[in-house]
Amino acid sequence: MEDVEDPVPERGEVLVRVEACGACHSDLHAMREHFVPLEEGHILGHEISGRVEGFGPDCRNPYGLSEGDPVIVSWIASCGVCDDCSRGDENLCRYLEMPGLTPGRQGGLAEFVAVPEHVVIPLPADLPLEEASVLSCAYGTSYNALRNRGRLRPGESIAVFGCGGVGLAAIQLATLFGASTIVGIDILERKLQWARELGATHVVDASKDDPVGLILEATDQRGVDLAIEAIPGPKLESSMEVVRRGGRLVVVGLHPMGSRVPLDMMGFSMYNLSLIACLGYSPRRDLPQLVSLVAAGRLDPGKLISRYYTWQAVNEAYRDLERGRVARAVIRIR
Ligand SMILES: [Zn+2]
Ligand SMILES: [Zn+2]
Repeated sequence: MEDVEDPVPERGEVLVRVEACGACHSDLHAMREHFVPLEEGHILGHEISGRVEGFGPDCRNPYGLSEGDPVIVSWIASCGVCDDCSRGDENLCRYLEMPGLTPGRQGGLAEFVAVPEHVVIPLPADLPLEEASVLSCAYGTSYNALRNRGRLRPGESIAVFGCGGVGLAAIQLATLFGASTIVGIDILERKLQWARELGATHVVDASKDDPVGLILEATDQRGVDLAIEAIPGPKLESSMEVVRRGGRLVVVGLHPMGSRVPLDMMGFSMYNLSLIACLGYSPRRDLPQLVSLVAAGRLDPGKLISRYYTWQAVNEAYRDLERGRVARAVIRIR
């Protein structure tokens, strides 16, 4: 931990005083340089909630924010105006930056963070600010995976590979979207227990049992309508085996650079499968919808958070995350 100069919001940016920041597996990947290498002194943290502290020059203030208002900060920091952004695909923005994860764009494990104003999303005043931090990565990503990329419909079945933060959020959201059969797959009993608590109708311990056989059993040998791969290891082939004919497989976890997977291309064609990538979400489209689900009392993000840490204990939070001791770890910055 060290003293750094407070960031100064640039043109069109908002300065946010950070209250809480979730710890995410992507941070562990970033530390090990599985993604783009980061310079020394880079500040991690991309699951941020806090309060508006000030505005840079030329802000248009699209959400009508005032100083002190509670907000969440998207880790997808799009430019907001290019053709991709205009089409609604902000996650594909050619000028995309990710606070905490891309060089030169500092994250939220600090007192202040400066970000483009359109990715600072307001929260109703009565929502717990600490709990809301996890909306911006774990829930935002799984929301886009289920709703927009996977197009999960009521009554459909879903298998979620990997019951970390994003996978567990996907299970919780699947119950909200009316999925009938929800299978959680992981290798840690603790995570499978959380999956049950958040709404999984079936769980599979892949360290002991074969997920393919058990998922087929749970779906009358049909396979699931939608499979979500929320683990960073390339296991695509077995995920594809549990999807029904004509079904969809959405890959959510960011795989390390250089990952390659072998695929049964005959099975892929004969099953008429859809293999779909999901990179984060579009902040202006998806985050306000998530916030309104929370405000309506339909989604409780606090259920995902196992433990809060002081910011002196930030390293302990990442250790616990890595060892699977927490579903989501949230660091209190204030
Ligand atoms: Zn994340
Ligand atoms: Zn853009």
